[in-house]
Amino acid sequence: MSVLIIGAGFAGLSAGYHLTQAGREVTILEARDRIGGRVWTSHDFADLPVEFGGEMIHGNTVNTWEWVNKLGLKTLHWQKDMHAMIRTEDDQWLPIDEAREKSPALALTRSWDIAHLGEPNDDEDLETYLKRIGLTEEHLRYTQRMFANSEGDNMNVLSAKAHASLFHDRDTADGYGDHRILDGYSAYYNKLAEGLDIRLNTVVTEIDWSDTVTVTTADGKTYTGDDAVITLPLGVLQANVIKFTPELPRIKQEALEGLGMGPVMKMIYLFDEPITDPSIGVILSKQNPPVWWSPTIGQSDTQFVWTAFFSGDYAREMIALGEEQALQAGLQTLRDELGKSDLNYKKAQWICWPLDEFSRGGYSYCRPGHYDARDKLAQPTPPLYWAGEATAPHDLTAMVHGAYFTGQRASDEIL
Ligand SMILES: Cc1cc2nc3c(=O)[nH]c(=O)nc-3n(C[C@H](O)[C@H](O)[C@H](O)COP(=O)(O)OP(=O)(O)OC[C@H]3O[C@@H](n4cnc5c(N)ncnc54)[C@H](O)[C@@H]3O)c2cc1C
Repeated sequence: MSVLIIGAGFAGLSAGYHLTQAGREVTILEARDRIGGRVWTSHDFADLPVEFGGEMIHGNTVNTWEWVNKLGLKTLHWQKDMHAMIRTEDDQWLPIDEAREKSPALALTRSWDIAHLGEPNDDEDLETYLKRIGLTEEHLRYTQRMFANSEGDNMNVLSAKAHASLFHDRDTADGYGDHRILDGYSAYYNKLAEGLDIRLNTVVTEIDWSDTVTVTTADGKTYTGDDAVITLPLGVLQANVIKFTPELPRIKQEALEGLGMGPVMKMIYLFDEPITDPSIGVILSKQNPPVWWSPTIGQSDTQFVWTAFFSGDYAREMIALGEEQALQAGLQTLRDELGKSDLNYKKAQWICWPLDEFSRGGYSYCRPGHYDARDKLAQPTPPLYWAGEATAPHDLTAMVHGAYFTGQRASDEIL
């Protein structure tokens, strides 16, 4: 029994690994000239690995640790709060802990002590919900900066029911904290890919699933399999650039309408010297980009990398500026926040996932009134099986370990 897998990101590699372990013949078709998908470790940007996409392991008990431990990879617990400076809404520049003590509105975006104020309605967006339960404009601005930015888009397009359930400081079933793989995520995805038949530069254009599966690629070749695992990013599925024959059933169309692909981006800068007190690893700006961290803090004595992470209107604004001007605008934000008007970088990289034709966005979010959209996208439609971060349960979506989980799930379904 043979299986075609579309996409060699974490979902596809996980499906490939688990199916191969079970003795299935697997071929993975990948459009890019590299594996990893939205996880992309650069080994030449700086003198240590820099992540252009997925970066942290969120939680200390998630499935990623099985591999990290098996491979003996080095990790660092990223205690970002201990090293963060924030520009508060009233324009003070403070260590985050002090800012939280001074501002109840900011403290709330950590404690999320709001359940007693009322539960979200099914069709409410996050902004409407938070206003209804009495949060102020100041609360909302902090929520956009400190929470919605990492959920992938503006609060007014996020389902309150789906996203408010994620309000926590990640001390959950996934364990605590954010962790960085010092060897780079590539050490993990390269190992997962070992021995798999992966065809790079193979852009799938048509999937005929009328009986078994026949896939046509941009260069006119065809591949056949008894089953296929579709791990295409939500943005690619929504763009209708792949022809399915027969058309996908209504339930899949409903799923695609119920989810949004967040415009999530990074701009990464390399400096010759520390740009802050060397103990500072995170900058939370009132300007755009709002969130910055240094992956090199404590790791390199010669090169100092800062990553800006942003989504929603922050990203739309940068995309409208274009690459060169956006990189300058980011630098200006750092100059303003640090009070260093002559700050300059050695090298900078813009990573625009929304304009990347093989992802068409950063990661998925759930729209108001569509709480079941992820389940609908995940439902098997044999001989097609569905994986990828957008098909993960709400608490696993938009994460590497969630993508891995969905690949394993699709493998189990086929088996
Ligand atoms: C900026 C950013 C930061 C992030 N930070 C984190 C983080 O810190 N921690 C975390 O856990 N997660 C993070 N994530 C999320 C994580 O990266 C994703 O959830 C995960 O990598 C998705 O894996 P996937 O296999 O579902 O999709 P992908 O990795 O996108 O894999 C899908 C594959 O399909 C391929 N493909 C697309 N079109 C075609 C086609 N026509 N034919 C053939 N192949 C095709 C793509 O090239 C891709 O390789 C981040 C994501 C972004 C964008």
